[in-house]
Amino acid sequence: MPTHPSIQTQHAIGALVGSAVGDALGAPFEFQHGGLYSARFPQPVLGGRGEMIGGGSWEAGEFTDDTHMGLALAESLLTRSALDPADLWSRWRAWASTAKDVGILTHHALACASHEGAAAHAHTTNGGKSAGNGSLMRNTPVALFTLRGPLESAVALARAQSRLTHHDDANHEGVAIHTAMVRAGVLGEDMFVAMDGAIAALHPIAREHWRALLDSSWTPAQAKFGNGTVWTCLAQAVWAVRHASDFEESVRTAIDLGDDADTVGCVAGSLAGARWGVQAIPSRWTTYVHGAMQTPTGERRYDYVALQEIARGLLGHKPVPFTPSDAEGGPTRVHADLPIYAADLTGASKAPTDWAVVSLCRTGGAFARHAVRREVFLIDQYEEHDNANPRAALADAVASIDALLAEDPTRPVLVHCHGGHSRTAFVLKAWAMRRKGWSQDEAHAWLVQSWDRVHTKNPVFARVLREEWR
Ligand SMILES: [Mg+2]
Repeated sequence: MPTHPSIQTQHAIGALVGSAVGDALGAPFEFQHGGLYSARFPQPVLGGRGEMIGGGSWEAGEFTDDTHMGLALAESLLTRSALDPADLWSRWRAWASTAKDVGILTHHALACASHEGAAAHAHTTNGGKSAGNGSLMRNTPVALFTLRGPLESAVALARAQSRLTHHDDANHEGVAIHTAMVRAGVLGEDMFVAMDGAIAALHPIAREHWRALLDSSWTPAQAKFGNGTVWTCLAQAVWAVRHASDFEESVRTAIDLGDDADTVGCVAGSLAGARWGVQAIPSRWTTYVHGAMQTPTGERRYDYVALQEIARGLLGHKPVPFTPSDAEGGPTRVHADLPIYAADLTGASKAPTDWAVVSLCRTGGAFARHAVRREVFLIDQYEEHDNANPRAALADAVASIDALLAEDPTRPVLVHCHGGHSRTAFVLKAWAMRRKGWSQDEAHAWLVQSWDRVHTKNPVFARVLREEWR
């Protein structure tokens, strides 16, 4: 339960990164029939480049208009400290001027030089239909930016951003519900209770409509409209997250519904990321998520760390500066038979680009040319609340090492963190405990034979290995 600010931050990062991950994973399956994701990946692909495959005009891991529009909204909020329609409009129009894909309603609206009257223009141009999912898919930053204020202000901001391009009341109702759910997840509250509260606050006719759509008994087979509409898109995303046991299952089932798969994946990813936090999102997905878009001042590129910083900024936190490690340690082989290596960041950055790299700290882009890599979100601080879910991050790192070794037993797998001391030892010891059936002490004794940087000062890591790992 995210009751502490550092845990809330990781759930907020989860919401933003989760939305981008769902978008990028779903992009290759957009406008196709359901079930294709599961058909392509009957089992999770833990090694290689994972399930980020791209397709059409999309690179592997590249997110689409859903995330672009949300990032433009986030950066406008951060720059203007409020919703400034004129500023946001210039950002959206700059993006649309070179975008690979723009939704129909949004395209009609952004044809207008000013936001004034644009939504009504788009509604008319589109034959009086404007209940698309375009204002929902970009809404996640609103819930983060307004987290410290009252729910009423959050909902008002969501409705205001929705009205800029979308004319139908259903759009504004959808973003109101979505905002309440993401907010509750980040705050550690029950997002389905918050959903019921948001529905209860709607106009009576809308209330009955949404109550039926978002009821726990609803299934995608009952949908009356396609998932390009706000109604079915939100209903499918809520259904996927409600019936899943983790982030991975939420997004997989959402994308498997087909049609507007990237947008349903994006909305489900925002809810699941808020609910379970960034450490619950598989690193084989987060590592590769990226995108670029035109802004009024030129093109900007985004990667996993950039998304983390935007989420932090929306909560009012300062950026976490990147510092290179001062010494050079490794790569040093730590296993007699298997090509497993340990290093600090500076040592690791010298590794050949055909090595697989498991990073447990920020890398400053040092491994961008490594085709096979993982960036695992793990904080080396000593309080229980410093990591929202260290067990999940650890399990991800260990499973990645095993999968990468199994895939190519001759390819080195390099595990590193900033100093090579604490996180590297945490993960390598956990791997050895699983592989050999060792205790923590036995794994420690093995690792220090070859890697003298090991230290055991982090009491949370020691507790996780002792109580949650064997
Ligand atoms: Mg899209």
